[in-house]
Amino acid sequence: METIFKIRYSNMEACPKCGVVHPKYYRVKARNCYECGDCGHQIYPLVGTIMEGTTTPLTDWFFAMYLFSVSKNGVSAKELQRSLGVTYKTAWRIGHKIRDLMNDKQDKLLKGIVEVDESLIGGKVKGGKRGWGAENKTCLFGMIERDGGVKVSVIEERTREAIYNEINSGVAKGSTVYSDEFKAYKTLSTQGYIQGSVVHSKNQWKDGDCHTNSIEGYWSNLKKSILGTHTHISKKHMHRYLNEFAFRHNNRKGNIFEEMLKQIN
Ligand SMILES: [Zn+2]
Repeated sequence: METIFKIRYSNMEACPKCGVVHPKYYRVKARNCYECGDCGHQIYPLVGTIMEGTTTPLTDWFFAMYLFSVSKNGVSAKELQRSLGVTYKTAWRIGHKIRDLMNDKQDKLLKGIVEVDESLIGGKVKGGKRGWGAENKTCLFGMIERDGGVKVSVIEERTREAIYNEINSGVAKGSTVYSDEFKAYKTLSTQGYIQGSVVHSKNQWKDGDCHTNSIEGYWSNLKKSILGTHTHISKKHMHRYLNEFAFRHNNRKGNIFEEMLKQIN
């Protein structure tokens, strides 16, 4: 509770109620709140956070967040259930709340050399179609800056429009965008990007600087982790898992747990 109060209110210049400068707030133990020493105004630090209204002890929440911060492959609801000693339902809810917390709010544009690619995940139907015509699969679009950040999202269809939307909102203009030979990318220069592609169907994987090894590697790790950790992820919740993995990647050079704490607000 104290940690959360500090994260959210340590920069408080004046009490929002009485206006006293650098107010002294005291913990009211019985009520999960803090109270202004001058006017008695109460602040409930959990309101508006992922922990609002929780009956699970905060120490459990922090432990769960810690597990997410150090995990390479993600944390399943089963694993949370065991580690925290809560019901499966509670574990499942806590997991999703933490994934939502890992939705990076400081949405920086990717720049420099950015590799982009689409990929399918999940939903194999027995006897069904495979590949791009397959049912129940979720189409992902990924963009990764060389030695930098990554952005991955679910797109409804693998169309030029959907792909351009993602690139336009995620990559700084003037950047170099490398992809495979999928036809949608051919006119990317009209959007203000320097475009290059490798022709995988002709066994071309690298043309000087131009290749898509970073995004291919990211897909491979993401799929291995997701399929190894979770039995099934529905399309509806997919974005949460994508955020979780992207958050760890994007904060890999810092302290992931501390970055997660900063997201509580
Ligand atoms: Zn006050």
